[in-house]
Amino acid sequence: MNVFEAIKAAVPMREAAEHYGLRVLPNGMACCPFHEDHHPSLKLNEDYFFCFGCGAHGDVIDFTAKLWGLSAQEAVEKLRGDFEIETGQTPIPFPTSPEVAPNLERLCIRVLKEYLRLLRIWRLRYAPVTLGCDPDDRFVESLQMEPVISFFLDSLIAGDSVLRERVLQVFRKDGTIYELRDYVERKREEEARHYQEEKIA
Ligand SMILES: [Zn+2]
Repeated sequence: MNVFEAIKAAVPMREAAEHYGLRVLPNGMACCPFHEDHHPSLKLNEDYFFCFGCGAHGDVIDFTAKLWGLSAQEAVEKLRGDFEIETGQTPIPFPTSPEVAPNLERLCIRVLKEYLRLLRIWRLRYAPVTLGCDPDDRFVESLQMEPVISFFLDSLIAGDSVLRERVLQVFRKDGTIYELRDYVERKREEEARHYQEEKIA
């Protein structure tokens, strides 16, 4: 068994996807990180993945390579390190420079920008008009979150690779970025609806 086969045998597709931040539903579907996917269209089988949206497909090594922008050999080394797999072969040291997954990074930047825009709208639209009343939740959220989101966004756009990787880790963990994306989308729709109603009333 060569090292490629050993890795494929040792790391189930789904486990790798979850490890790298995808939220996988019980039926094996997940939002595809390779295209703008709002409803899970990526199917994760035991030993391969296939996207019904963009057609991306392959095995666990292809997946890792594509997600992280690596060569197949580098993806093997990454999987071997991340899943602590003994292949009985001298490991080729994986480059220690921080890695950046271009797809994930793009998604993070887009979602953070949208969220920031929404927070700024809320700040103006729901500012309290008297001192005595409880401020609107959206106003409070904008006060709390705007500096945080600005920081993350600035870090991704202008930070060095170490900082960028640290921020990406925050959003990769447990599929945080996908949750945030859904949240922002939901809130934007609510906001649009609400504003329309207000204008009509
Ligand atoms: Zn896709």
